[in-house]
Amino acid sequence: MTTLKVVRGTRDLLPPETALWNRIEATARRVFARYNFGEIRTPIFEDTSLFARSVGEETDIVSKEMYTWEDRARAQSEKSQSLTLRPENTAGVVRAYIEHKLGESGQLQKLYYIGPQFRRERPQKGRYRQFWQIGAEVIGPPSAGSESPVRDTEILEMLATLLDELGVSGWTLELNSVGSSADRERYNQALREALVPVAPRMCADCQRRAATNPLRVLDCKVPEDQPIIATLPRIADFLGEDSKLHFAAVIAALDAAGVPYHLNPRLVRGLDYYTRTTFEFTHGGLGAQNALLGGGRYDGLSEAIGGPKAPGIGFAMGLDRLVLTLQAQEAERKTTPRADAYIAPLGENLNAAALALARELRRAGLTIELGDGSFRLKKSFEAAGKIARRIVILGEDELQSGILTVKDFASGVQLKVPRGELFAILAK
Ligand code: AMP
Repeated sequence: MTTLKVVRGTRDLLPPETALWNRIEATARRVFARYNFGEIRTPIFEDTSLFARSVGEETDIVSKEMYTWEDRARAQSEKSQSLTLRPENTAGVVRAYIEHKLGESGQLQKLYYIGPQFRRERPQKGRYRQFWQIGAEVIGPPSAGSESPVRDTEILEMLATLLDELGVSGWTLELNSVGSSADRERYNQALREALVPVAPRMCADCQRRAATNPLRVLDCKVPEDQPIIATLPRIADFLGEDSKLHFAAVIAALDAAGVPYHLNPRLVRGLDYYTRTTFEFTHGGLGAQNALLGGGRYDGLSEAIGGPKAPGIGFAMGLDRLVLTLQAQEAERKTTPRADAYIAPLGENLNAAALALARELRRAGLTIELGDGSFRLKKSFEAAGKIARRIVILGEDELQSGILTVKDFASGVQLKVPRGELFAILAK
């Protein structure tokens, strides 16, 4: 009998790795609670038309990545129905908001979810067919302030806080505004026209997108297409006055809160429902699939699926990618040398002076490894490179002059440092 294997693009998560998953989820729940979010759990499958109407018929997700099947009627009173494993969770949350009339409370709804999503994508590092998202949505009637730029900034600031508390270092917030749906329509039209003469020179995907969903051309990663993309019109030139003011307010508040960001006029994101603020947090360590999370405003989504006016903003964070990032950071921490410096005496008669110098620096709080004067210079460098970030060379000349030679392994820079300044240099 052939052995059965886990389905392509899906994974078993085993201990001890699951402990990290639990830690991330617990941290997210704790941070969300501080911002007054409550948890929502929606079903794993929904009526197919929910995704067609919200995510958009022409998107990659709906047009080719969904797990959809016809659910046959079990009784005469039932109709068969097309169902789909959720490829994302915002649509389900907004459906629940409408279904439970959550807007009638007159208050903002702040909801978060943690759960698996399903997309039939080509599996690779950081991209799976069943993957996990942690997401949150702020949605409500306009009278509750759901359109306010304060909501955008609060979400972005919360995400910066969450990533910091998780210990993710080196993230970048990419920020853009795609305008209101009217702005986007004008921009789409301009893009469509600008693409007519150049699309035949672009990749097959772009040729198709130019006709069906021109915004998606901006997402193209094919290097040969980039110079053409750079000449296309920019969304920033199509924003109406309202969208401009909204975006300026978001940026000003981020500046005031000290959240760093990078304006990226090409960031359009793959889902149709986004309006105005769109964002991604990326991480260089992830390679091609570098988005840790993505999100934005969706002021017209509720109405698009038959609900009341309920502007909102939210994000979805890829839990699988967070785990990859934290594991890579941990591996790097383990292999990077821990000692601030390795002191290499050049001769056994210098061992005592080296010990005195090590003592002084250790007492000042540095982690120092002490070499052995019987080592040759080459061996000292080898030993130092494995355990310390820098080497301090202590020879007869250095002892006499009080000027030491310090080499930083990461930068390769070698300096002459007076003994009195050694601590300041090594403490950096
Ligand atoms: P999206 O819903 O496409 O905006 O995705 C939001 C986040 O979910 C991305 O930034 C990723 O971190 C994560 N994500 C999306 N698709 C996948 C996938 N196929 N595998 C793993 N993570 C994914």
